[in-house]
Amino acid sequence: MQSKFSCPRGTTDITPFDISRWDNIERISKQILTCYNYKEIRTPLFEETELFARSMGQSSDVVCKQMLNLAAQQKDDQDGVTLSGLSLRPENTASVVRSYIQNGFDRKEPISKLFYIGPMFRGERPQKGRLRQFNQIGVEVLGPNTAQPYLDAEIISLSVHLLKSLGLEKFQLKINTLGTPEDKENFSQMLRQALKPYRKELSEYSQQRFERNVFRVLDSKDAADQEIVKKVHIGLSYLSTESQHYYAQVKEALMNLDVDFVEDQHLVRGLDYYTHTVFEICGSSLGSQDALGAGGRYNNLVRQLGGGDIDAMGFALGVERILLALGDKKVPLSNPLAAYIVPMSEEALNQGFVLMNVLRQENISCDLSYKYSAKLKNVLSNANKMDVHTVILLGEEEMKKHCVTLKDMQQKKEETISIKGNDFSKIINILKERYN
Ligand code: AMP
Repeated sequence: MQSKFSCPRGTTDITPFDISRWDNIERISKQILTCYNYKEIRTPLFEETELFARSMGQSSDVVCKQMLNLAAQQKDDQDGVTLSGLSLRPENTASVVRSYIQNGFDRKEPISKLFYIGPMFRGERPQKGRLRQFNQIGVEVLGPNTAQPYLDAEIISLSVHLLKSLGLEKFQLKINTLGTPEDKENFSQMLRQALKPYRKELSEYSQQRFERNVFRVLDSKDAADQEIVKKVHIGLSYLSTESQHYYAQVKEALMNLDVDFVEDQHLVRGLDYYTHTVFEICGSSLGSQDALGAGGRYNNLVRQLGGGDIDAMGFALGVERILLALGDKKVPLSNPLAAYIVPMSEEALNQGFVLMNVLRQENISCDLSYKYSAKLKNVLSNANKMDVHTVILLGEEEMKKHCVTLKDMQQKKEETISIKGNDFSKIINILKERYN
């Protein structure tokens, strides 16, 4: 078969053949997040473009180049809709903060520990590990006076715990601090000063960034820029004493939790909203798109978007990158079918159909081959292609002797069970014992 259509560039289908890998990631993540007392939040997939511009910063790459705006539509009749000024969400922090303010979370609880799992959209040039629609698992913790080094350490160690529990072993956690907005401004001026002598040698891209958002020069992928950046040492002198103390406490708390990290002075994260602690986790097997996840503290964003003085911190992990890093590593199948009923005659098909219904009423997952075949080889080759625990065979012999054969596909064992009319209680008991 050849389809006339393909999914849009930079998007992928998650088919039933790989859904168990996704299920697994979501299930394990939710388990861990719940254990850390985080609650799920779901926000719309699109928001006002201005929300992203205000929060991420007009000069950030995402806002400048990667926003997927919804097309304006002519309002030519009463039912027409206007979609201009709306964009698909490129990340979820801004939306969560918007929702936190709009729904008055701060009046309902002293601290909101939130998580989300879902798709984000960016108009990037697709390549391995870089998609236009991709999925993130993220957390955001918001609340007045919650800027506490222990919380920073909890959030960072939670991201590491998630990755390890999902089966990843080889990754590196990098951390840095940007300090308060004043410290950050100092940092930016010192960086500009330090880069000034090399300004003409920088790539065109970095020369533009030098004025508008000098931190982006540190993220440049250009080899010559990277050589220049290596020569620049700023130290922590841009930080106030309080910020230095805060950072030292975060590091100490991480060490107490046995979380391995390296300090990277050049880790700045390209978005305007970060202050104090920032971090990134890179996988060693991922090539150029090696970031598995990243996050940081953003104490001023809630106020910037119209809320009160609310401290906040979060991170997002990329699900597709996690899957790439896991490679072919076996993941347990999450939902094999408990039973597959295989009738081998017309009479058996009748009985199989009733049996299927009875099993489903008992919450035992099952399915039926809707046509019968007398050839055992054909019948079993189909069953083998399915992800199923037990095949229930209704063959000619079985019909004559009022019984069924249960073939355990994993243990490769079989047993014969007698049945009386439409009383299938023996089968139900066996299947429940095995799979519930
Ligand atoms: P960011 O919001 O850019 O810090 O991204 C957080 C994480 O999301 C990254 O570390 C990646 O794992 C993932 N990610 C970001 N952009 C993409 C993309 N275009 N395609 C796939 N994954 C992405």
